[in-house]
Amino acid sequence: MPEVSVKPLGHDLYQIDAFMHDEAERLACYLFDTPNRVLIECGPSRTIDHLYDALAHLGIDDLAVMAVTHIHLDHAGGAGHLAQRFPSAAIGVHSAGARHLAAPERLWASATRIYTEEGMQELWGPMEPIAEDRLLVVEEGDAIPLGGGRSLEVMYTPGHAKHHIVFWEDATGACFVGDSVGLAFPHGHMVQPITPPPDLDPPLVVDQLRRIAARQPAFLGFAHFGADPLAQEALDQAETRLWDWVRWVEQAGTEADLAQAMRHWVLEGYRREGFPAEVIDQYDRNTFWPMQVTGIQRWLDQRG
Ligand SMILES: [Zn+2]
Repeated sequence: MPEVSVKPLGHDLYQIDAFMHDEAERLACYLFDTPNRVLIECGPSRTIDHLYDALAHLGIDDLAVMAVTHIHLDHAGGAGHLAQRFPSAAIGVHSAGARHLAAPERLWASATRIYTEEGMQELWGPMEPIAEDRLLVVEEGDAIPLGGGRSLEVMYTPGHAKHHIVFWEDATGACFVGDSVGLAFPHGHMVQPITPPPDLDPPLVVDQLRRIAARQPAFLGFAHFGADPLAQEALDQAETRLWDWVRWVEQAGTEADLAQAMRHWVLEGYRREGFPAEVIDQYDRNTFWPMQVTGIQRWLDQRG
């Protein structure tokens, strides 16, 4: 019996636990079961069968579009796999990321520098190229039709990555934010920045947080780890914490073991803020600290 966790969010929208890394809550995908069925995110290929199980459980055997917020492997690694499985689905992606889905070799090589070859197979699994005529290349202001007069509006939101977009939907008042805001466990109500190299640009991240806040979303659809109705609070927290992290790395300088030092500093801060030990542990297990440090250092170096 496959493990399936699907949560109806109203207006034909479903949150699907993709059981990334074979664990609950690591990645949320969102399905609009509307006349034009649209899925947001698919996760990596290695664990994509969990997503297929959930779609089968919902009786879904075709998709009009599967759109990714950005091409990082935890969101889009399985896109080529899904394109083969659902031959009529278009794969939605921002223009800055499209060529990496058509020819994933460079993306694969750069991710291997962070995760190592062994880690790539264990965490993500292979990336299949997607034929260019299957790609739905989108830009700021584009609309992906859901049918029934509804659509997903594309907002271009660089900052976390140059190829990042978020999706806005009127009927639900939802904003599907990918990694642009950070990650937030449903149990914690704590937003933690995600600061990977090479594109991280904190002022640009903050611009996007404010653009999203100005629309007063009813909830934020976090990719990691689900819908959060405390949208404004989450956006404020994301901005504050991001600058705290940048200032800390700036002051810590070039210490050898900065990843561990940062980890201790961040977790100690969570303890002082009163978060329960099990919540703190969950954030810790889901954070790749060297990546967080490197992304901020790279931005500081380039800023000079
Ligand atoms: Zn990302």
